[in-house]
Amino acid sequence: MSNNYNDMWRSLGVNLEAHDQLLQALPPTYHDVYLTQTNRPKSMEYFDFVVNEIHGLRIQELQEHKKNGGKVIGAFCVFVPEEIVRAAGGICIGLCSGIDIGAAEAEQVLPRSICPLIKSFMGFKLAKVCPYFESCDMVVGETTCDGKKKAFEILNDYVPVHVMETPQMKKSRDKQLWLEEVQDFAELAQKTTGTEITDVSLAQAIQEVNGKRQALRRLSNLRKNNPVPISGKDSLLIEQIAMYDDVARFTAKVNELCDELEQKISTGAGVFPGRTPRVIVTGTPMAIPNWKVPHIIETSGAVIVAEEMCTGLRYFENEVAEADGLDSMLENIAARYLGINCAVFTPNTGRLEQLENLVRDYHADGVIHCTLSFCDPYAVEANRVEKMMKQKEIPFLKIETGYDQEDAGQLKTRVEAFIEMLR
Ligand code: SF4
Ligand code: SF4
Repeated sequence: MSNNYNDMWRSLGVNLEAHDQLLQALPPTYHDVYLTQTNRPKSMEYFDFVVNEIHGLRIQELQEHKKNGGKVIGAFCVFVPEEIVRAAGGICIGLCSGIDIGAAEAEQVLPRSICPLIKSFMGFKLAKVCPYFESCDMVVGETTCDGKKKAFEILNDYVPVHVMETPQMKKSRDKQLWLEEVQDFAELAQKTTGTEITDVSLAQAIQEVNGKRQALRRLSNLRKNNPVPISGKDSLLIEQIAMYDDVARFTAKVNELCDELEQKISTGAGVFPGRTPRVIVTGTPMAIPNWKVPHIIETSGAVIVAEEMCTGLRYFENEVAEADGLDSMLENIAARYLGINCAVFTPNTGRLEQLENLVRDYHADGVIHCTLSFCDPYAVEANRVEKMMKQKEIPFLKIETGYDQEDAGQLKTRVEAFIEMLR
């Protein structure tokens, strides 16, 4: 990406020197992870372009929106209802937190031993390296895990943060609490943007976001084929871009890609030979540009056929049911989001059931559970997943890792041994 955007970044208060370091690190990594793949679908050009312009064109679009009086609202969790932000005329951006940047700054306010995702978002803000973050009028946090919940108190010193209380269980009183949180958020979104949410605007936003989720599901379903028409790395990239790209354009591009893949499938073509071991990855989300484990898996002889993660199926598996009237729509939004099987819930049996179904539906040979270091909810829940996998005799590998590359060699050895066993 060119530095023609320097004026825009400067006007946002981005630290240009630190930002340059980030931009220099991205292209070589992207080249090695993505552009060295063979048989890539032609339609991936759009997604390559989006990454190439990651801090350029999309940021320019956000600035245009703001110039016209629009607001940008950032989020770190798939529990934040994008439909509400859109219905209030705002743009919802998933803030990435997938790279080790600004760690020194973050460690001035956070303990050293904390989940890299939390350290990353704090580092991004304190080091002022993310033009998305700097474009946000408000950030929405949630009480999913303790580390995030407490970090939002600190983050609030630097950007207005609204925290939604996500319940820990899914009983009827939890459903009521969450519904009230969703209703409060709708009030706040209207206050922040100055635009009233109407029946029409909310119904439209629900349809648009459902359309995005349908396109992603269509793509996901195509991965059930053997040979697989698209790599897991490319699929993950698309799932990551879903968090911040323009909804209508992104949906159209994913559908275009699916058209191409359907064509490919009809000729029996795929990206890996038909006998390649098929793996499902489950665990903590992999925010852009965290491609470390998928890259190791797909350069060790296996293909990833599904991601049971928030950068994956948890983001698009359920839709908001359409309804008449604001109240019913908000109820349906609350119900849809509470259906997400995040490890912060107890019990979280829905995730186990889902995994078992996925192994069957995606014809997977094994499951790799990937937890970010210091992420207690997923690290502890891995025990339940492992137990179920043993009972069902599904080959299983458990990995715990951060954003640095120090353990890449060791991980590769373990993944290769697992894939060898699958064969
Ligand atoms: S894993 Fe849980 S906390 Fe993290 S993004 Fe998903 S729903 Fe939110
Ligand atoms: S990865 Fe785990 S510890 Fe980190 S923010 Fe998500 S739930 Fe919390």
